[in-house]
Amino acid sequence: MQTADAVIVGGGIVGASVAWHLTEAGCRDVLIVERESHQGKGSTGKSMGGVRAQFATKPNIQMSLYSIPFYAAFEERLGHPSGYCDQGYLFVATKQAHLEYLQTNQALQKSLGLTQARMLARDEIVSIVPQLRADDVQGGSFCPTDGFVDPYSVMVGFTVRACEQGAILWRSTEVSAITHNGGGIIGVETSRGPVSTRIVVDAAGPWAAEIAALVGIDLPVEPMRRMLIPTEPFDGVSHKVPMVVDMTTGFHFRPEGLGFLLAWNDPQETIGFNTNFDPAFIERVLTLAADRVPCFENLAVNPKRAWAGLYEMSPDHHAIIGPVKEIPGFFCANGFSGHGVMHSPATGRMVSDLIVHGTTAVIDNVDVLSPARFAKGELLHETAVL
Ligand SMILES: Cc1cc2nc3c(=O)[nH]c(=O)nc-3n(C[C@H](O)[C@H](O)[C@H](O)COP(=O)(O)OP(=O)(O)OC[C@H]3O[C@@H](n4cnc5c(N)ncnc54)[C@H](O)[C@@H]3O)c2cc1C
Repeated sequence: MQTADAVIVGGGIVGASVAWHLTEAGCRDVLIVERESHQGKGSTGKSMGGVRAQFATKPNIQMSLYSIPFYAAFEERLGHPSGYCDQGYLFVATKQAHLEYLQTNQALQKSLGLTQARMLARDEIVSIVPQLRADDVQGGSFCPTDGFVDPYSVMVGFTVRACEQGAILWRSTEVSAITHNGGGIIGVETSRGPVSTRIVVDAAGPWAAEIAALVGIDLPVEPMRRMLIPTEPFDGVSHKVPMVVDMTTGFHFRPEGLGFLLAWNDPQETIGFNTNFDPAFIERVLTLAADRVPCFENLAVNPKRAWAGLYEMSPDHHAIIGPVKEIPGFFCANGFSGHGVMHSPATGRMVSDLIVHGTTAVIDNVDVLSPARFAKGELLHETAVL
């Protein structure tokens, strides 16, 4: 029978990062099990690739403070490109309340060591994006070390290097059962046969609750559709602009190739595994786009190039990371609520630390992300969700 020190369920960016960090820590007998024929068919291949430390809570900021420098040094460390572009995130506020919110967040960010984030006045915002309609803009915040990465390339880099260091990737293989007894995990059943292991990491993205259910755990991770619209080539706005977030509507965009990538999180979207792209979404987003950047009324969009993927929502919009106390050997690395790409380096390190050492210093108190927090009613509150 196949044996492994650790089995990682899910070969997306998170499973790949956990695998690499484990092999780096000397735990080399790692098996990644991915049910699709190729990695990246889950959320990872659908992501916008944004990375930012401009969050409202300590765990999210601290996870970004590990992850963003990691992305900056990714190629040097792993010999594979991460595609990290430090073009920043620019939050544009049109209400006093937004401005105060950004100021409060920035005070926390700075107290945790994010020195580069700064508040901007309207004219500074206009100097960064001259095409922006700024008559109602009151100010904003900008962090130049925020930006974007290539999620697919990061996932491949983590996987290739993990496999060079002893990990094995099984593609086209589904985990269908997890065996355990009073002492904890014993093994997993897969479509390729059983595997004996004492450690299972649930890195199944939007499907994480299904994997947790295999050990009888009710994990509150729910899928929710998010749609993205790539535009045709457009040079009416510089391709050096940051990720720009219009706080009034939630519309945001960033450069992508010769065009732009447009996003908006529809508040009407409901829970479910629907990944059909709705063509009516294009008109709604283009209206928001042209309202904030008037020259965007000239954007051309090919609906066939637009896509939808799934966020993996947790009740408090924070990742669920750590051991499930009732099932020794079962670890969560999921529930990112749309931030799994930017937080995959920190997650890999935290989960690896917890498996190997039982503790981690990536964030001050990893227990706040524990799956046990829901039963205890100790939820966190992140409001800077896009
Ligand atoms: C439109 C969109 C935009 C986004 N933008 C951003 C962004 O700007 N920044 C950011 O940080 N994040 C963003 N995200 C979120 C990000 O993509 C996810 O948080 C991240 O990809 C999660 O990675 P993962 O490895 O946990 O999950 P996934 O990539 O979904 O991987 C999970 C894998 O588990 C496999 N699996 C499931 N069940 C089984 C089973 N039983 N057996 C074997 N394998 C199984 C699946 O096939 C899948 O490949 C976005 C997401 C979407 C949809």
